[in-house]
Amino acid sequence: MNKQRIAVLGAGPMGLMVAMELLKQGHDVDIYERDDRIGGMSASFNFEGLEIERYYHFICKTDFPLFQLLDELELSDRLRWTDTKMGFFYNGKLYKWGTPMALLTFDGLSLISKFRYGLHAMFTKSIKDWRPYDRMNATTWLRRWIGERAYNVLWKSLFELKLFEYSENISAAWIGTRIKRVALSRRSLMQETMGYLEGGSAVLLEKMEQFIVKNGGRIHLRSGIDRVEVRDGKVSGIVINDETISCNSVISTAPIQYVPRLVPTLPADFVERIETIKNIPVACVILKLKQPLSENFWMNINDPSIEIPGVIEYSNLNKMSPSIVYAPFYMPKTHPKWSESNETLIEEVIGYLHKLNPAFRPDWVLAKHCHRYEFAQTICPPGFYDMLPSMKTPVDGFFMADTGYYYPEDRSINESIEVAKALATAAIGTQAL
Ligand SMILES: Cc1cc2nc3c(=O)[nH]c(=O)nc-3n(C[C@H](O)[C@H](O)[C@H](O)COP(=O)(O)OP(=O)(O)OC[C@H]3O[C@@H](n4cnc5c(N)ncnc54)[C@H](O)[C@@H]3O)c2cc1C
Repeated sequence: MNKQRIAVLGAGPMGLMVAMELLKQGHDVDIYERDDRIGGMSASFNFEGLEIERYYHFICKTDFPLFQLLDELELSDRLRWTDTKMGFFYNGKLYKWGTPMALLTFDGLSLISKFRYGLHAMFTKSIKDWRPYDRMNATTWLRRWIGERAYNVLWKSLFELKLFEYSENISAAWIGTRIKRVALSRRSLMQETMGYLEGGSAVLLEKMEQFIVKNGGRIHLRSGIDRVEVRDGKVSGIVINDETISCNSVISTAPIQYVPRLVPTLPADFVERIETIKNIPVACVILKLKQPLSENFWMNINDPSIEIPGVIEYSNLNKMSPSIVYAPFYMPKTHPKWSESNETLIEEVIGYLHKLNPAFRPDWVLAKHCHRYEFAQTICPPGFYDMLPSMKTPVDGFFMADTGYYYPEDRSINESIEVAKALATAAIGTQAL
C-alpha cells in the first residue's frame, strides 16, 4: 500500500490510538477534533484549581490492552491500585456491598436469594464465550438466576435509571461482561481493587499526543469536520468551515449517529442500520466536598426518593482532599430532566446527599459543576452483534467505529484502545509501508 493521507475524526482515546497505529505504519495523519481539547469523554477540565476528568474513570485488573499501551509509552509506573469499598443505599439505609460478608449481612434479601445471587456472580465470572448471551435478554437472564424479588432489589432501579424505556430490551452479554470485569478486579474474594492513573487519564492522553506529534502527525483542535467529500464513490477530502482539505481516507471515531450528516452520500440502507442504534446522553454532576461523603468508591442506589443510579466518590479511589463526588444522570433527550438547567441538576444531587450521609451539610460543597455528553451510552439490545454496521462503510475510504463497537464490553478507555487497533487494521491493513 502507498503512503496515504488520512484524516482521523475525533481526538478521544480511540482517535489518538488509531492515529498512533497509522503513524507506526508510515502514513500521513491529521486528527480533527471539534472540542478545544483532546480526550473526548476522557477529557479533563479545570475544576476550580483541580485538573480532573469530566467523567470518573477507573481501571480494572483485566484491562490488558491498556496495560500494554502504558508499557509502550513508559507510563506503567503511573498506574496505581487501591483497595476500594462499595456501598448499596437501599430504601433509606446504606449497606456495605461487594463482599460475601456484606451480602450475608444485607437484610433486603432471603438467604436463598443471596445464595442465587452469589452463584450467578461466580458463574458470570467463568463465562469466556459471550456469543450465546448476545441474543439473550438481560433482565430475563438475571431474573432466572436470582429470582424476581432479588432482581427488583438489586437491578431494577439501576436498569430503569440508566436505560429507561430500553431497560427490558438489553443484551445479557452486555450486562454480563460488566459484572465479570468488576468481579475479576479483586485482590481476593474479600477485597475489590480498582486502578487509576496518577495524574488522571490526562497523563495517558498527553503521552499519546506526544507520540503522534513526534512521529509527524498533527492534531487540530476546534476543528469539527462538517462534511466528508466523496467523488465517484470514494473519499476525496473533508470540509471544515467551508474549506476543503484533500485526503485519501477518513476514519471516524465520533458517535456513529453523527455519520449520516457527515457523509450524505452513504446509501439509505446503511444509514438505516446506523439509525437503529440508540444512545443515551449523560449529565454528570461533579462536586468538591469539604469532607468525605462515605468510605465507598462506588455506591449503588435503590431508593424511591433518589433519581440517580449511584454516586462515585472518586477520592476514595484516587485519594485526595477535598473529596470528589460524581453523580450521573443518564437520560434520553426526551426526558423532562434533560431540558432542566445544570444548576437544577446540581441542586437535586446536593439535595440527595443528606440521605446518603445524615451528617452532610450544604456548606460541605466547595465547588460544583455539571458536564453533558450527548452520545454517552450505546444501547445494546439482544442480537447487537448483527446490528452493528461494519467499520468499512460502502463509501470507499470512509471507516467508522465508536464506543458501541466495544460490544459486548461496556465503555472504557481499555476498549477504545482495542477497537482502535481493529479500526486501523480495517482501514489500512497491518502492513507497514
Ligand atoms: C459518565 C462516564 C463514565 C465513564 N467511566 C469510565 C471508567 O470508569 N473507566 C473507563 O475506562 N472509561 C469510562 N468511561 C468511558 C470512556 O470515557 C470512553 O470509553 C472513552 O473516552 C471513549 O473514547 P472514544 O475516543 O472512543 O470516544 P469519544 O470520547 O466519544 O471521542 C469522540 C471525539 O470525537 C469528537 N467529535 C465528534 N464529532 C466530531 C466532528 N464532526 N469533527 C471532529 N471531532 C468530532 C468529540 O468531540 C470527541 O472528542 C466513562 C464515560 C462516561 C461518559
